[in-house]
Amino acid sequence: MNILLVEDEPKIAGFVAAGLREQGFAVEHCADGLDGYARASSGHYDAIVLDIMLPGRDGLSILQGLRRAGVATPVILLTARNELGDRITGLSLGADDYLAKPFFVEELIARVQALHRRVSGEHHHTLTVGALRLDRLAREATWLGQSVDLTGREFNLIEYLMRSPGRVLTRTQILEHVWGYDFDPSTNVVDVCIQRIRKKMASIGAGEPAESPIESVRGVGYRFRQLP
Ligand code: CA
Repeated sequence: MNILLVEDEPKIAGFVAAGLREQGFAVEHCADGLDGYARASSGHYDAIVLDIMLPGRDGLSILQGLRRAGVATPVILLTARNELGDRITGLSLGADDYLAKPFFVEELIARVQALHRRVSGEHHHTLTVGALRLDRLAREATWLGQSVDLTGREFNLIEYLMRSPGRVLTRTQILEHVWGYDFDPSTNVVDVCIQRIRKKMASIGAGEPAESPIESVRGVGYRFRQLP
């Protein structure tokens, strides 16, 4: 998989490129918006990781230019924290995903891989981790072989956790991903929603109660247990 990385901050470009290469991606890097646009418009890449603030031409303008020119290469935008306007503009211009700085390279890798699965058509309708199985088309969850009645939000939340088994996701990440933009950071909706999911799962398999696969990480967030 070939990735074009357009990022002018050498430190960030360095760790992102190294992290992606470690995972077996081929990475081409450029630090300038004009050069970035020229390369991106070739359509030779499987994905583009695009910073917004760039010398020459900014990331949003590059994205807009690409989409107008019919280049459909998936784009992940790197946005400054709190730049809500940029994220909304980016998504409306046709970005496939975004990541707010600072971020962990592992998170970016997970997003790129998810994008790759989606685009390459390898994307299966079902997602299984341990005894939990999600059918993403039918929007059905099965735990220990029995159907769990989840709301749309609960389904999205558990799917988000399941996509990164073993990794801790912070409340903010979960909020941004599952609830979108309009949230109050002090809200406890994530905890409430997790409790509801756990309760629904616990009501299944009575007699041999299975431990919830959703693990709380005190003061940070939640993790989907990596099952053997
Ligand atoms: Ca920049």
